[in-house]
Amino acid sequence: MSDTPTLTITNVGYLSTNYWVVSRGRSRLLVDLGYPGTMATLRARLKQMDIPLAEIRYALATHYHIDHAGLAQELKMAGVDLIVLESQVTAIPLMKQFTKPRDHYVEISLDGNLILPASASRALLAKIGIQGEILPTPGHSDDSVSLLLDDGSVFTGDLTPDELAWGEAGELVKASWVLLRQHGAVQVYPGHGPVRPIG
Ligand SMILES: [Zn+2]
Repeated sequence: MSDTPTLTITNVGYLSTNYWVVSRGRSRLLVDLGYPGTMATLRARLKQMDIPLAEIRYALATHYHIDHAGLAQELKMAGVDLIVLESQVTAIPLMKQFTKPRDHYVEISLDGNLILPASASRALLAKIGIQGEILPTPGHSDDSVSLLLDDGSVFTGDLTPDELAWGEAGELVKASWVLLRQHGAVQVYPGHGPVRPIG
């Protein structure tokens, strides 16, 4: 009876940053969206991993720092829908100030984004056969979110590891990890570095 393809996770990252493609067969979601000016590199990496760009239905930036959302607009122009949690909207225009003309950053337009509350993320992901939810996990930045799949895989972007959290932001970081554990997170797919158990 089970013709449903299994869920797969592929790293198409480069420049010490992980960009994750979560796929249910040919329905795909890209988590974290490249550096500005590197669309050719992202295309090459996708090709290398046998992932047609046209099969990527949604893009999600864990947060709007240039190494995580640099190609968001170009991906939109290539036909990918950008998922933006309501808690991320105000961070988008701030990105531009961290880029220089030579970065060839294409500014993210506020038009055409799929802006939604976290509570609506499960239904949206289900449309492409991915069971999970997007949760606000502030700490590294106010707009940080994590994608948590029902199998316990969690994509945390730059959320600081628990043991390195300190000070005021540290309290936010710790609360974010508590939330993820409460929601069943098991295996961490970070924005930088290797996959690790949540511990
Ligand atoms: Zn960051």
